[in-house]
Amino acid sequence: MSGSKASKNNCHAKRCPVQCSPEEFMCPTHWSMVPLGIQARFREHYRSGQRPTKAFLAAGMAAIEAVAKEESAMGSRLSRLLEKTKIAQEREKISKDIARALKA
Ligand SMILES: [Zn+2]
Repeated sequence: MSGSKASKNNCHAKRCPVQCSPEEFMCPTHWSMVPLGIQARFREHYRSGQRPTKAFLAAGMAAIEAVAKEESAMGSRLSRLLEKTKIAQEREKISKDIARALKA
């Protein structure tokens, strides 16, 4: 492998480390979270290889904000779910420890 291409860009969603192709503004997961109206506005103002217009940047910002909002709503549901998973895992670990202690 001889060096990585400089044409890679990162997904524009907040804190997303996923790399996507230069034509993509966001990774497919995040892009699917952008409301269709904003997606349409974004495409309408997108001019490949040209300097972004104000309207394009505004659509981009709106897309980023929409994803952030969606993620924070999902985040609170997710953290409740993770909490339950953690408790279940701890219970399982304790029961394994007990089983091991009983065998010894
Ligand atoms: Zn992403």
